[in-house]
Amino acid sequence: MRYSALSILLNGLTGNRGWRAAWRDPQPKAHYDVVIVGGGGHGLATAYYLAREFGIANVAVLEKNYVGSGNVGRNTTIIRSNYLLPGNNPFYELSMKLWEGLERDFNFNAMVSQRGVLNLYHSDAQRDAYTRRGNAMRLHGVDAELLDRAAVREMLPFLDFDNARFPIQGGLLQRRGGTVRHDAVAWGYARGADSRGVDIIQNCEVTAIRRENGRVTGVETTRGFIGCGKLALAAAGNSSNVAAMADLRLPIESHVLQAFVSEGLKPFINCVVTFGAGHFYVSQSDKGGLVFGGDIDGYNSYAQRGNLATVEHVAEAGKAMIPALSRVRFLRSWGGIMDMSMDGSPIIDHTYLDNLYLNAGWCYGGFKATPASGYCFAHLIARDQAQETARAFRLDRFERGFLIDEKGMGAQPNLH
Ligand SMILES: Cc1cc2nc3c(=O)[nH]c(=O)nc-3n(C[C@H](O)[C@H](O)[C@H](O)COP(=O)(O)OP(=O)(O)OC[C@H]3O[C@@H](n4cnc5c(N)ncnc54)[C@H](O)[C@@H]3O)c2cc1C
Repeated sequence: MRYSALSILLNGLTGNRGWRAAWRDPQPKAHYDVVIVGGGGHGLATAYYLAREFGIANVAVLEKNYVGSGNVGRNTTIIRSNYLLPGNNPFYELSMKLWEGLERDFNFNAMVSQRGVLNLYHSDAQRDAYTRRGNAMRLHGVDAELLDRAAVREMLPFLDFDNARFPIQGGLLQRRGGTVRHDAVAWGYARGADSRGVDIIQNCEVTAIRRENGRVTGVETTRGFIGCGKLALAAAGNSSNVAAMADLRLPIESHVLQAFVSEGLKPFINCVVTFGAGHFYVSQSDKGGLVFGGDIDGYNSYAQRGNLATVEHVAEAGKAMIPALSRVRFLRSWGGIMDMSMDGSPIIDHTYLDNLYLNAGWCYGGFKATPASGYCFAHLIARDQAQETARAFRLDRFERGFLIDEKGMGAQPNLH
């Protein structure tokens, strides 16, 4: 069933009785060519591209909860490709290009909104760092503009330009960055994969990985044993737990990241804007609520809720950037579990078992990567070869010392 203006019209005239469920609710089969653990954005996108690009449709996505219950439905929806390092930049730009055609591609309204992402700078040193980043982006064919204070003031006049501690000097703008409705991405990929024959099996937790002679033969689940030719892990915040089922110890720590939504306001923020003197980012949803967040909570946890100290920290940073926020009521907050890698960059790679593949380490930036991650992971699974933009995301880089330390902050998750 394709969605179109005509189908809305016809269903509107016939009591909306013609709509079908967006994806099936199949019983698990005994064996699949590929089993993907995790029905988040990355797992579903991987299944979609396996079927669409590589002709492998005998695939199951196993989700312990419901589709969209993980980080894909919990993030602050920001997409961008403003990366500095060559290991990252082409990959995130591939993702941006895929976002740009995604809705047509999977025939689903994901509300891709390229409203711009503006990173503020507050000192000469930070301006120089952003200049370098902007130049690196342009060298990779990515759009970047360095704005001075006057240009930022024209865009966002309500920012605190003369804050005594953090005066705003300007910003680095990527106009093609923006926001995408997060759960629609999960639904769109789920529907697209299902329509190509992929089984999406919800309420099906993987509890063990069965191995024989150095190969995975299948997974034990709460709905019984499911055999597979290849097993792909895309469990985000639970990556360490799932990988441990195959005796893999990952260079990953799990931390909580919180997000917040305010009461609905008239439109006043027309882009994504981030504070350069602390960790704070905000955009305004189409319903009028401000959607914002800050740093991860600094302790390890698998709980999808955060602590009050971080709430206070986020509120302080927000108020230092936009004083008017002190008058705004927070409506909701929630947390998600971040798979923080030791250099802040992801892993898309084989493992020591021939037919076990790993997609993890997305930290707090994996939503924007969803299309490229799915595409590159599908490429790896189908061809047993890394896609060219994802070659640097090797698991053994931590052992070999080839870190992709985008922020140059060192190997501590609580710093990046
Ligand atoms: C508050 C917050 C704000 C964020 N903001 C942004 C942002 O603005 N921009 C951005 O780019 N990124 C952002 N992120 C990060 C981004 O959401 C994640 O990096 C990305 O969604 C992770 O990939 P995923 O969608 O596949 O994860 P998930 O949706 O978490 O998918 C993993 C799935 O695996 C399932 N699973 C786990 N264990 C098992 C098991 N044993 N068996 C079966 N299933 C299992 C889970 O239930 C889950 O559904 C944010 C994250 C949070 C929490």
